[in-house]
Amino acid sequence: MLKINMKTPLVEIDGDEMTRVLWEIIKEKLLIPFIDLKTEYYDLGLSNRDNTNDEVTVQSAQAIKKYGVGVKCATITANTARQKEYNLKYLLPSPNATIRAILDGTVFRKPISVNRIKPSVITWKSPIVIGRHAYGDVYKAAEMEIEGPGKVELVYTKADGTERRMEIANFKSSGIVQGMHNLDESIKSFARACFLYAINEKIPLWFSTKDTISKIYDGRFKTIFEEIYENEFKEKCAAAGIDYFYTLIDDAVARVVKSKGGFLWACKNYDGDVQSDMIASAAGSLAMMTSVLVSPSGVFEYEAAHGTVQQHYYRWQKGEKTSTNPAALIFAWSGALSKRAELDNLGDLGDFAQRLEKAVLSTIDDGIMTGDLAKLSDPPPAKILDSWDFIDEIASRL
Ligand code: NAP
Ligand code: MG
Repeated sequence: MLKINMKTPLVEIDGDEMTRVLWEIIKEKLLIPFIDLKTEYYDLGLSNRDNTNDEVTVQSAQAIKKYGVGVKCATITANTARQKEYNLKYLLPSPNATIRAILDGTVFRKPISVNRIKPSVITWKSPIVIGRHAYGDVYKAAEMEIEGPGKVELVYTKADGTERRMEIANFKSSGIVQGMHNLDESIKSFARACFLYAINEKIPLWFSTKDTISKIYDGRFKTIFEEIYENEFKEKCAAAGIDYFYTLIDDAVARVVKSKGGFLWACKNYDGDVQSDMIASAAGSLAMMTSVLVSPSGVFEYEAAHGTVQQHYYRWQKGEKTSTNPAALIFAWSGALSKRAELDNLGDLGDFAQRLEKAVLSTIDDGIMTGDLAKLSDPPPAKILDSWDFIDEIASRL
């Protein structure tokens, strides 16, 4: 069979555990038979990150900057348990945090909707997309243990050498302290990315912070969004027939669960981390959530929102064929291929990406699914398959 051509390589970032196992099968069964797949491969499996002192993570982010589009498998974020398990030299930082810090930008997370899976929030009729700011705050914070009594201050040493100081706390006994930051430029590109996404998808934009408590920090986010809206997007939003709506995070959370869905909810880094897990589980399954990092320099990284599905991996190691859902991983590939097609003007490749997504959706809509979805399916599933048979079923439709 004649294979579909590619021009520019995709940056392929391999990962860990069960998602690494599925990654290989997806390529073998769903991509390589149809596409003359060109990728530049980076192995971000935990052992290789450790062997390269995490250089490979930085290189993969730089490759995305160079080529424009990357597709990433889920990776383990090291903790002390993982350090023992993988015999690591040191506690490696989160690869996603490293890549996001290099690319900056905003992560958009959108559930994959299928007819048989009804959201547990019954009022939701359309997907809620989360736009998560991907730079700074607690993900790039400095933390310190305070051993005992003493004063902790914020010190800003200006370029001209003058200082500004402010007391954080006067400790009477031991405790903890954390310092975090963000940058006006990063917040501006976050705002622009969100307005552009909302206008492109013709869905309203909601934004929320805790500016009543954090008047300077969260207040800056609110002000920048307002300025960007007034100066750059007000007319474009009106032309697209969509609104911009700001509210306090507490109010937003309450409104979201009573809403009909169908909007983009822009969230600060931590809010987006937590709320996207809430949206994903309420929309069906974490395995049905896609994620794309859009950087202000115009580069894109596609991934699944879920992790490495650790417990399934241990069962697979014991010889079990697990029923792990590959949908979001497949959509990471289709999203990346579709973007590559758009940038390189490759109609066949773009068509293929759409067919791949349709093959996944039609399989599930016909009642053929993995175990995580079987519990949620209404009507009940016709067949529950392991990941291998499920991918074969998609391949046969493709
Ligand atoms: P997880 O891998 O997302 O899995 C949590 C649970 O969600 C699983 O135990 C499973 O539930 C269910 N699940 C998630 N994806 C699924 C799928 N594709 N098919 C079926 N069920 C699925 O999160 P975790 O267990 O908290 O984290 C595991 C590792 O992933 C950690 O080392 C973490 O650092 C890493 N992680 C990486 C990323 C990333 O690279 N983007 C994101 C999050 C976490 P059942 O066990 O009930 O079947
Ligand atoms: Mg999370």
